[in-house]
Amino acid sequence: MPIKVLADEIVSKIAAGEVIERPVSVVKELIENSLDAGATQIAIEAQGGGVELIKVSDNGIGIPASELELAFHRYATSKIGSLDDLEKISSLGFRGEALPSIAAVAEIEISTQTSSDPIGSYMYLRKGEVVRKESRARSQGTTVTVHGLFRYFPVRLKFLKSANTENSHIAHLVSQYALAFPEVKFSLILDKRQSLRTTGNGDLREVVSEIYGSELAQRMLKVEQKDGLAKVSGLTSPPSLARSNRNYLSFFVNRRWVHSPLLTRATEEAYRGLLMDGQHPIAVINISLPAQELDVNIHPAKAQIKFCHEQTVFSSVQKAIEEILARTPIASSKAVPFSVSSGQWQSPRMITDNEPAFVVAQLPALELPVLRVLGQLANTYIIAEGPDGLYLIDQHAAHERILYDRILAQWSQKEVEVQGLLQPITIEFSPREEETLKASKEFLAEFGFAIEPFGNRSYLIRAIPALVARANIIEIISALFDSLASKESPNPWEEKIAQSLACHGAIRAGQQLSNEEMRELIKQLEQTKQPRTCPHGRPTMIHLNSHQLEKEFGRIS
Ligand code: ADP
Ligand code: MG
Repeated sequence: MPIKVLADEIVSKIAAGEVIERPVSVVKELIENSLDAGATQIAIEAQGGGVELIKVSDNGIGIPASELELAFHRYATSKIGSLDDLEKISSLGFRGEALPSIAAVAEIEISTQTSSDPIGSYMYLRKGEVVRKESRARSQGTTVTVHGLFRYFPVRLKFLKSANTENSHIAHLVSQYALAFPEVKFSLILDKRQSLRTTGNGDLREVVSEIYGSELAQRMLKVEQKDGLAKVSGLTSPPSLARSNRNYLSFFVNRRWVHSPLLTRATEEAYRGLLMDGQHPIAVINISLPAQELDVNIHPAKAQIKFCHEQTVFSSVQKAIEEILARTPIASSKAVPFSVSSGQWQSPRMITDNEPAFVVAQLPALELPVLRVLGQLANTYIIAEGPDGLYLIDQHAAHERILYDRILAQWSQKEVEVQGLLQPITIEFSPREEETLKASKEFLAEFGFAIEPFGNRSYLIRAIPALVARANIIEIISALFDSLASKESPNPWEEKIAQSLACHGAIRAGQQLSNEEMRELIKQLEQTKQPRTCPHGRPTMIHLNSHQLEKEFGRIS
């Protein structure tokens, strides 16, 4: 084919593809427009994962009737006027691409009213063309309704995940904007169900409470650093409160939600040595910088930014968080799964006694010789002697392996032991966790969880798998949801569930064990299929054989 300039229609579709990747991109652009219009109330609604319907209403300044058609032209914007403006952008939008891009991939309705027009206006566009335009009354503000997203783009549709997954992206996004703008009242309705509502009273802690629950919100520490080029403010978790992934890190730069590896590293650096491996803080961090200090125009969806002085920003964030952490007494973690007195944690012996024989079905101890317990080291390792030398066993990793095998065995044989709770536990899910719950309900039930809606994002936990019944249930569940929501692990659901339950249900390092408890633990470890590694593949034990010992002591050379 000879070289030729592409037709406008094709160009706009290519551009639309960059801006509107999936339903949540539409929601993002519309919310940004509402915020740029100075809205103090934004109501978002989505159906069928956003493919059927997305509707965003605001009480912002509205669009004058005379400019309404223009708003749907590519590169038409009221937000910047000169090259100079591009250097110091203070609005969220500026590319003039969102409305035309959405119109290129869906049907779109808009109704709007300014304070000066005598009456509001309404427009309907199909395949980017205006098919209807008329005057229509409404209160000041704008409502954009998007129907049939990607209907004419079967390829895009095919790549979308289930409606539940798309909903969970939308819930996450709206939560982020609610965190960034506590003074704006947000409402999110997903498939006709209220999923999030904030008051708009300006209190960040209140928004955190809405999204992550009040217990967590109360424990968050206030970050405030007003000197220097980058001003840092927000909330961050005490070291006793952590999560197993980075989904709970939110960064806003000049109120723009950004994905920034730099800011993530700066935050995690502040927690260095305070969190266990694989744990991550929870933080909502606002950074404010002179507009010239950053370039927001490096990504079509504006999700990335570039700082002019990266190092300065990095250390401002790190220092601001370190400072508050340093002033916080190291409280003992609330999430201790077993009380230290052995009252709560019964020895594994008891578990075996109550279990039907199928559980570990006396598998031959393939790999592990019979071990004799000598003692416990640092309340963390069991010291044992075998026919061929010394064994140091990591009590947590070993128990994790035992639980993992049992949980999967019970599940696959459909004989899961369930522990009903006399006193049901109430737990509040974030909008995103709620969507995860919807998607995984049946699986969770198969593993022994009975979770019932209790209104307004609260749920009652009525039963849990008996194998982890002695652990901290809230911690178990929140870790489980983190792992289910994580896209990082390609493992099938049942493995993710078993891994997470085993990890958080297992005894911890630092837990003192009686000799009897240690003997039981080892006995059960001997009966697992892979006693030498935990479910994550880390070793459960170190073995020093007699030969090595003799060599170390110079008995042989
Ligand atoms: P951009 O936001 O980059 O300017 P958009 O295509 O998103 O481009 O919007 C085009 C223009 O339409 C905006 O510059 C703004 O003037 C107007 N507009 C869009 N949405 C709204 C809204 N909700 N309220 C008021 N004006 C809006
Ligand atoms: Mg915009």
